[in-house]
Amino acid sequence: MNPIVFAIPVFLLSILAEWAIAKRQGLAIYSLPDAIGSLSMGLLSQVVGLFAKVASLAAYVALYDHASITHWPLDNVFLWLVALLLYDFLYYWNHRMGHEVSLLWGAHSIHHSSEYYNLSTALRQSSTGVFLSWLFYIPMAILGVPPEMLVVVGLIDLLYQFGVHTELIGRLGWLDRVFVTPSNHRVHHGQNDYCIDKNYGGMLVIWDRLFGTFAPERFDEKVIYGLRKPLHSLNPLWANTSHYCDMGQHMRQATGWSAKLKIIWSSPRVLSTNSSVQFNPTHFVRYAPQTPKHIIIYASAQYALLVPAFLHFLIIFDRMNAHQAAFYGLWLGLSLQAITGLLQQKKWAPWSEAIRWVAALGALVAGLQVSFGA
Ligand SMILES: [Zn+2]
Ligand SMILES: [Zn+2]
Repeated sequence: MNPIVFAIPVFLLSILAEWAIAKRQGLAIYSLPDAIGSLSMGLLSQVVGLFAKVASLAAYVALYDHASITHWPLDNVFLWLVALLLYDFLYYWNHRMGHEVSLLWGAHSIHHSSEYYNLSTALRQSSTGVFLSWLFYIPMAILGVPPEMLVVVGLIDLLYQFGVHTELIGRLGWLDRVFVTPSNHRVHHGQNDYCIDKNYGGMLVIWDRLFGTFAPERFDEKVIYGLRKPLHSLNPLWANTSHYCDMGQHMRQATGWSAKLKIIWSSPRVLSTNSSVQFNPTHFVRYAPQTPKHIIIYASAQYALLVPAFLHFLIIFDRMNAHQAAFYGLWLGLSLQAITGLLQQKKWAPWSEAIRWVAALGALVAGLQVSFGA
């Protein structure tokens, strides 16, 4: 079964625990609409990932079967550690290119779009990154790392990173200079001048120290989280596409094909005038949609109902035919649009909410008819 099914309850309980501790300590590190936005983006990335990972994993398996120089045995613990180290090294470059190449930033920027930093931010993941990120791990296929090993070490790297998205853990001394820790990853999420394009590591921050991208957290300047060009939205579809829309606009305005194509490979900073302006942390105002309390309560309840549906989708994914999987996946996507749209008081959101409920009830009735042979 998909290991994410087991990870999700752990993620949600950890988020609740972090929220409760922060509340007791009087720290305003959570906003419910922002957290629901983050969780919605994470959920959408898993739904899209289920469809896309089949293709990227198939490509990896094909390379491993036909182009690898050897095949690593699965029963050697040392080789598992080497594979984890190799994955983390390649992750550094995947992540770094995700910040330095506009096409890849289009996928990764979503992870940086929250102006809060907490465990829910960790789940703010891309739905489009899966299409290109596998290319960075081709060396592992060529070196003969079996697909099972790649999947497991990739999962370890990902789960490790969940825990560093917190403001509740301070600095950890020498650990901050060896491993990726809450302190150095806070810097990575900062939009202060000293934070930009720093600390790309996944588990080890020594890669940043080796390649000149390390910056320790400063005592004298509070880290301000988020994007220089703020997203100002909770909508998972917009969060996944806004940078591509910017790229399209710049490409239309550029003259000549070479100038248009250059935008794809250039630094995302070229597209944003805000990135060259000196950042003043004291003038920053956080995005805060003015959502009435009753809508927040309704949207939270709907999201809480959606989580079991999502787990059900993950569990039965392999048993569904293509049409059923597509319908269920689209329904989950529509539900996320509706819930985040309600939180932002979009005019279309009540219509989306009504349509998704009609679709859910229709599917339930159709399912019951099939079950009882009516
Ligand atoms: Zn990043
Ligand atoms: Zn992060």
